[in-house]
Amino acid sequence: MGKRYPVQIHARLPRLMRIIFLGPPGAGKGTQAKLLAKKYTIPQISTGDILREAIRQGTLLGLEAKKFMDKGELVPDTVIIGIIRQRIQEQDCKNGFIFDGFPRTIPQAEALRKMLVLLNLSLDAVLSIVVKDEILIKRISGRRTCPVCNAVYHILHNPPRMPGLCDRDHTPLIQRNDEKEETVRNRLVVYKKQTQPLIDYYKKQGLLKEVDGEQTIEAIYSQIAGFLA
Ligand code: AMP
Repeated sequence: MGKRYPVQIHARLPRLMRIIFLGPPGAGKGTQAKLLAKKYTIPQISTGDILREAIRQGTLLGLEAKKFMDKGELVPDTVIIGIIRQRIQEQDCKNGFIFDGFPRTIPQAEALRKMLVLLNLSLDAVLSIVVKDEILIKRISGRRTCPVCNAVYHILHNPPRMPGLCDRDHTPLIQRNDEKEETVRNRLVVYKKQTQPLIDYYKKQGLLKEVDGEQTIEAIYSQIAGFLA
C-alpha cells in the first residue's frame, strides 16, 4: 500500500477577494478600500494614486494624465486599461485585489471582464458607496494637502494645529487643483455621465451591493463586512 500523508483539512487559507469600489469622488472609497486591503492582506489598487505618483515623478504618463485630472476629466480608457492589465498580474495580486476608482467607464469594465476571463478569475462584489452631492462637495473642497509629506487635512473636520500649516513639517498647505469646488462639480457631472451606468451594469450581473456612505467610517466598514461575510 502506498505511503499515506496526513492532510491538513483545517489549514487556514487566505480569503481570495476581488472587489470593486464604485462611488463618486469623496464618497470614502479610498478609506474603506484601505481598511479592507489590510483585513484581507491584498493590495488596494487606486488608479488615481498611480496617476498622481506618475505626475510626481514627472513621467510621460504623468504629464499626459495631469491635463485631464486638473480639469476633473477622465484619463483616456486605453491608458487606464494598460495600467490595470499590468498591475493585476503582479505577484501581490495572487490572492485578490481591491479596485478603488477603477473601472470608471463601461469600456473599462468590459476590458476588465475580458482580462478576468483570460486569467480565469471572477469578481466577488462591487460595492457602490452612495453619498449626496452637497455632502461630497463640502468633503472634498475642504481638503488641504501638504505638498511635502502628503498629509491630508480638512478645514472643518480635521484642521491642522496652526491654520494653513502642516502639523508635521510646517509647510504651507495647498488645495489640489482637482479639489477646488468648480472642479469637484465637474467631477460629479463626469461621474454621473460616465461612471454611474456601471451601477446597472454590475446590478445585472448580481454583483452590486449598495453602501450608505453618509454613516461614520466604522458603520460603513461594518455594513461592508456584513456584505462580504
Ligand atoms: P481619484 O483619486 O480616484 O478620484 O482619481 C483622480 C483623477 O484621476 C480622476 O478625476 C481622473 O482624472 C483620474 N482617474 C483615476 N482613475 C481613473 C479611471 N479609472 N479612469 C479615468 N480616469 C481616472
